[in-house]
Amino acid sequence: MQNTSFRAIKTALKSFKNILIVSHFSPDGDAMGSSLALYHYLLGLDKKVTVAVPNEYPDFLKWLPGNQKVLVYTKDVKKIEKVIQQCDCVFTLDFNTLSRLEDFGNSLKKCGKPFFLIDHHQQPDDYAKFQLHRVEACSTCELIYDLIVGLGDKSKIDKKIANCLYTGLMTDTGSFRYPSVTSKTHAIIADLLKTGIVPSDIHAAVYDNYSYDRLKLLGYCLSEKLKLIGGNQIAYFKISHAELQNFNFKKGDTEGLVNYPFAINGVKICAFFNEAPEGYIKISFRSKGKLDVNKFARLYFNGGGHKNAAGGKSQMSLTDTVAEFEKKAVSYFKLK
Ligand code: 5GP
Ligand code: MN
Repeated sequence: MQNTSFRAIKTALKSFKNILIVSHFSPDGDAMGSSLALYHYLLGLDKKVTVAVPNEYPDFLKWLPGNQKVLVYTKDVKKIEKVIQQCDCVFTLDFNTLSRLEDFGNSLKKCGKPFFLIDHHQQPDDYAKFQLHRVEACSTCELIYDLIVGLGDKSKIDKKIANCLYTGLMTDTGSFRYPSVTSKTHAIIADLLKTGIVPSDIHAAVYDNYSYDRLKLLGYCLSEKLKLIGGNQIAYFKISHAELQNFNFKKGDTEGLVNYPFAINGVKICAFFNEAPEGYIKISFRSKGKLDVNKFARLYFNGGGHKNAAGGKSQMSLTDTVAEFEKKAVSYFKLK
């Protein structure tokens, strides 16, 4: 499907008063940042707006302006079902298949309301009436910035919106270091800084807030759990539920951990496997350069994402999942 013109989006928005914004399971900085930036922007257009996500998100995102209004499907299901009935349209942000909403997606699939898809992941499903999709965008926050500017409302980007957008741009680019970063990324950041936001405060709020247990878990993973295969070019961690419990695991405690082995010279693929509380194995994949973990995750692990950052799931045991990964990854990526 083609992207919708800003003109058509502007016209459509005029007829929508009550708007629901949703983002993906296990929301990250880009999911929450883009949803809350759009929330503040639409409130400024005098809309009635609700942000709802499938499950809890990490504490390090709870300082974002508007956080206290966010509904979470696992605890606010009744309220959310009511909003689904009452809303005029649904914005789906930072994902491109309704299955990324888990149970929440089943409710939305049958609601019959028009969907907006705003996303930068590869191969979007065809469920949206309106679409703003660009794989080259470093984050969904970049697309929300484009949307607001495209609708002629750049002057409406205030400190609240800028704080939210900065967070998503920062977290989805690994603090401005991934290949997705372009001059445009930095030009947007320059614009956002003009609102008076303080980047060092945002970095500190998101990254300098580990619990003692979280830092110990990182140390444990690095010293005890890291395994290298494929001629030391593939690195992975495998963590059981019990091990996580030893460090009083909380949502977000393993965020970013998958990237650490890239610090080793020669590592091209990183993976992280953990037993999720939901009862399956949650997997994160990362890669360098041309190696495509989106395709790999889609092919073998019921997942997807971006070329260099993807996720997946397995219903097998942790041990069997990792055995399967070892077998498939070495041959798929031709690393020996
Ligand atoms: P993470 O490893 O940080 O959970 O996810 C990396 C990227 O892959 C994110 O952009 C995320 O949205 C996407 N992703 C994670 N898990 C899944 C999944 O199960 N299915 C799909 N399609 N994408 C995923
Ligand atoms: Mn994103």
